[in-house]
Amino acid sequence: MTRVNTVLGTISAAELGFVAIHEHIGYGMPGCELDSRWWKTPEERYEETVPKLRKFHENTQKWGAATFVEATGICNGRDIDYYKSLSAKTGVHIVASTGFVGGDTALPFFERASVEYLTDQFVHEITVGIGDSGAKAGIIKVGVSRGFKMKELDLRIYRAAARASKITGAPIFTHLAVDCEPALNIFAEEGLPCHRVLFGHADDGVSQGKINEKALLDAGGRIGFDTFGYDLELPDPPFWGRARAERLKHFLRFINSGLVDQVLASADANCSPLGWPGVKGHTVNYLFEQLIPDLREEGIDDSLIDQLFVHNTADFLTLQPISD
Ligand SMILES: [Zn+2]
Repeated sequence: MTRVNTVLGTISAAELGFVAIHEHIGYGMPGCELDSRWWKTPEERYEETVPKLRKFHENTQKWGAATFVEATGICNGRDIDYYKSLSAKTGVHIVASTGFVGGDTALPFFERASVEYLTDQFVHEITVGIGDSGAKAGIIKVGVSRGFKMKELDLRIYRAAARASKITGAPIFTHLAVDCEPALNIFAEEGLPCHRVLFGHADDGVSQGKINEKALLDAGGRIGFDTFGYDLELPDPPFWGRARAERLKHFLRFINSGLVDQVLASADANCSPLGWPGVKGHTVNYLFEQLIPDLREEGIDDSLIDQLFVHNTADFLTLQPISD
């Protein structure tokens, strides 16, 4: 049987239904919980989050189930007991991440951690559980620190992630697809096939012109169009925003070149952002309210939409250990 780790237990890939592959219940910088401007009571957090997840569940009805992949790594406000409670209340499967969004958001405790230490940490969270929550991570987060160049700690995290992925079979997703050469070298050296890696945010406004798409595709990597909805048309767009039509055109270029197996799409929205105001009006439900209608208008049919959000994602999330 295929296996995927969710916060409420291990399920088969066929049970995932529609998958939003890169989302956040709440993401923040380390220490954000101490910022008095952004303190939220548990009631406020639930109040902001539950309706969005319920709507997500409702929007996915025709696919039979809803899966929300929570892309917040260690140190960025990850809260497993909260995810468990949300999943139980809303019926949405939640897949939690081990790993780090980027080396620059890892607390000093991890700064000098060896590759072996980090590998053990990720493997433990995937096979035993995260803290004392009893929940196992289903995916490994890695990322490029600010500055669009991999830092030394980023490289160590990537290498540990590659080893942990081979041991546990959990896939990897990256924050940013820029400076991919060192990443591709590490995955090749460690013997991890790149179809186990989603190179994320290949569609954002600030990365354009900085991504070697050909190298990623040639290596067999998966390309993440996972910031859908951060549109410049928003009233107060974030610095990584992009014109809606331009992002869609970029995505369609991949789909129309027969690369549908190598792309994944998501909104990277925060249900209830931590320590920052978030982006007003942007939720995981953008996928249903804007993206899927846009795709349909461009002649993309249901089977292709299923391929993107059901089959590609199920294949990617299925635990697939790789022996040497
Ligand atoms: Zn994200």
